[in-house]
Amino acid sequence: MRKKVTIAGAGLVGSLEAIYLAKRGFQVEVYERRPDMRKVELSAGRSINLALSARGWNALKAVGVDQYVEKMAIPMYKRVMHAVDGSLTDQQYGQDGEAIYSVSRGGLNQLLMNLAGEQENVNMHFNYKCVDVDLKSASATFEHNDGNQKNVDADMIIGADGAYSVIRSKMIKQDRFQYSQHYIEHGYKELTIPANSDGTYKLEVNALHIWPRGSYMLIALPNMDGSFTCTLFFPYEGEYSFNSLQTEQQVYGFFKEVFPDTLDLIPNLVEEYFQNPTSSLAIMRCNPWTVDDKVLLIGDAAHATVPFYGQGMNAGFEGSFVLDQLMQKHGEDWQACFDEYSKIRKPDGDGVQDLSMHNFIVMRDKTADPKFLLQKKIELHFSKKYPDKWLPLYSMVSFSTIRYSEAWEIGQQQEKLMQKVMDVPNIEDKWESYEVEQLMLSLIA
Ligand SMILES: Cc1cc2nc3c(=O)[nH]c(=O)nc-3n(C[C@H](O)[C@H](O)[C@H](O)COP(=O)(O)OP(=O)(O)OC[C@H]3O[C@@H](n4cnc5c(N)ncnc54)[C@H](O)[C@@H]3O)c2cc1C
Repeated sequence: MRKKVTIAGAGLVGSLEAIYLAKRGFQVEVYERRPDMRKVELSAGRSINLALSARGWNALKAVGVDQYVEKMAIPMYKRVMHAVDGSLTDQQYGQDGEAIYSVSRGGLNQLLMNLAGEQENVNMHFNYKCVDVDLKSASATFEHNDGNQKNVDADMIIGADGAYSVIRSKMIKQDRFQYSQHYIEHGYKELTIPANSDGTYKLEVNALHIWPRGSYMLIALPNMDGSFTCTLFFPYEGEYSFNSLQTEQQVYGFFKEVFPDTLDLIPNLVEEYFQNPTSSLAIMRCNPWTVDDKVLLIGDAAHATVPFYGQGMNAGFEGSFVLDQLMQKHGEDWQACFDEYSKIRKPDGDGVQDLSMHNFIVMRDKTADPKFLLQKKIELHFSKKYPDKWLPLYSMVSFSTIRYSEAWEIGQQQEKLMQKVMDVPNIEDKWESYEVEQLMLSLIA
């Protein structure tokens, strides 16, 4: 008889995991708290679009989904920085042709649900919220919107129920279970740059736009319809903060002073600012991610992070890929599979969280610093010449599948080394010189 798996949560990761498990021959039942997003429009919640990069593509490709996603993905080859005076600078993300991709969250989620249901015969149950789980037997209780409850027995349950996972909250009650959650002082709000009347983009399309302003920032990612979705990452408290901007005049005045070029780009700025929700951002860590051979957390339920490296979904997708490889390796021995998954993925969950916080500082602050931009240019230049000796941190994270924990460690060593290179007198004039190249080679050696 086919083994039965229950997945709680039909978000991005739950839906992809369902495809993976169905392809392995499991009977997969997915229970999702919300209504079917393919039939009803859901109210604004998490980001409208996301950056998909190598790890995500790799996991999608392994189950043949990448070909469908390609049709809805917009390559972003570089960052474009918008200064207060309206001047633009840019920074290529990787080597020529390397890009991260803007995809619609809803579009991608719906695609994965369709593929899971239609091609893999996964059963999806909507409006069912997981309210309880027996960790020892993998049976769970789901409550329908109408108040009725049902118990579902399975051989294994996957908690893909996101950052506020109910499955994890049951695990917390176990002895010696580690859990922490840390809300950062910033929240976010989405705003829209609509398309021009002829459907064209108001900004360069193949780029991620950033307005870096020190302790906060605005970013914009392109959508297929000619619009951009902007996200304002802003503190809750302080002189310039969600709390301090209370009136229409204050919001308009702030944008006019700090993001003046956006006034023409975001026509409904003030309305959207007050209509759209302000959402919080948190890092959630826990350990272990599994209970015996019965329960496993995946995606944000295991390692919710702040969005500054654009890696939360990519990390979740990579988790599905790794789990699948371990299932291949361990066969029916789920205990061994779960143990190894928890053991090898946990450091990478921590790694992606550390990297995400690091990149917040890079994006909001350093991308406005010419010295930082030069440093990154030197790294990219050197890496092109000596790809086996140097892969810049951004490339390790976004264009490779090197483990997050390893990338974070190597990146910190690289940073120390680059400080020495940046101390070379007149580095601005001789960054491409033989002298600098030799210095880097000797430092690496
Ligand atoms: C502003 C912002 C920007 C981001 N940008 C990026 C980016 O550019 N690139 C990137 O890789 N990542 C990005 N992320 C992170 C990404 O959104 C998440 O990592 C990803 O959505 C995690 O997927 P998930 O399926 O684990 O969780 P979710 O997407 O949260 O899905 C969980 C699902 O479970 C359901 N659910 C919850 N509780 C229950 C329950 N009790 N019972 C049943 N169902 C339940 C929910 O309704 C939901 O459908 C961003 C996040 C934010 C907030």
